[in-house]
Amino acid sequence: MTNEVKVRFWGVRGSIAAPLTAADVKEKQIRAIRAFKAQGNDGRMDLGSVSEEEIVNSLAQTEVPTYGGNTSCVAVQYGDQIIILDMGTGLRPLGNSLIPETFKKSGLEASFILSHVHWDHIQGLPFFAELHFKEELLGLKNRWHFIGGTGWQKTAEECLAGQMAYPLFPVTWTEIQKTTYQMTFDDMHDGKKMQIGTSGVLCRFRKLFHPQETYGTRLEFPNEQVVAYTTDNEPFDPLCPVEPLLWLAKNANIWITDCQYTKEQYEGRKEAGGVPRHGWGHSYPEAVAKTAVMAEVDTVVLFHHDPGSSDEKIAQMVVHTQNLVNEMGGTSKVIGAWEGLELSL
Ligand SMILES: [Zn+2]
Ligand SMILES: [Zn+2]
Repeated sequence: MTNEVKVRFWGVRGSIAAPLTAADVKEKQIRAIRAFKAQGNDGRMDLGSVSEEEIVNSLAQTEVPTYGGNTSCVAVQYGDQIIILDMGTGLRPLGNSLIPETFKKSGLEASFILSHVHWDHIQGLPFFAELHFKEELLGLKNRWHFIGGTGWQKTAEECLAGQMAYPLFPVTWTEIQKTTYQMTFDDMHDGKKMQIGTSGVLCRFRKLFHPQETYGTRLEFPNEQVVAYTTDNEPFDPLCPVEPLLWLAKNANIWITDCQYTKEQYEGRKEAGGVPRHGWGHSYPEAVAKTAVMAEVDTVVLFHHDPGSSDEKIAQMVVHTQNLVNEMGGTSKVIGAWEGLELSL
């Protein structure tokens, strides 16, 4: 068994899925051609000697071609242990990627940790292909372990079943229960810690500030590496991060954090749309930078991008957050989460 911790991002948007439009793609093509011309490559360069990929990479407008449009879903793998943080629409492509492994091992075991049950964190579950594999037909012993809060007026299981209830979805939770080998549920609460499977991964939860009960997760691995996940969290005072957030992020190798808005959007400044977002439960670069510096985080991953943010805007927010960290004397590296990003520890 390898001791490597692998973190892969499958959905990075907040609130609602936001795919690129035809106009977005066209705009990217125009910008690329403009950049190509600006480089003096309009026919003077020997294009036969460089690969198409090299040319495209040289024209990159942002850190990636696109950050992606699927909602929150991050897979953390340690040895045979698969931990899935949230089940937004990114869970669909994640599930597809796991199909070969599911058949090879005659069944998959995964732990799903739910930060909370807003749509953007659960909507991928009905489209997780493995959920529909029938044990009796395929002989697959799939084991799903769901960990969620209890304070949502309904339990996690009732919420997940509710989004599939007739007539909202053609396959009901009861049918899934009948045909899946094993599904188990565990509660989380503020301060709870629990082991995930037999892998030695310790999982700790703290309550965050967000409408409806929401939890941040701190994963501590046997090799002493730490991955913290605190999406959907509002900092009331950007200069004074609250204790649960600092505790979760403390010395994390990777801290995945909500950074949905700019400060101007959060405050509802006229030039940023004029709608204050106080009480909506999301963060912004000034608060993220302060927490990263105080918690002495290695790598900060900006996550839960606003559905209205273009790739260019997200890239600017990444640079802005990095500048703020540097100005505060911090050493954290800031990156923006994108679909397909894989980090290893
Ligand atoms: Zn969300
Ligand atoms: Zn939410």
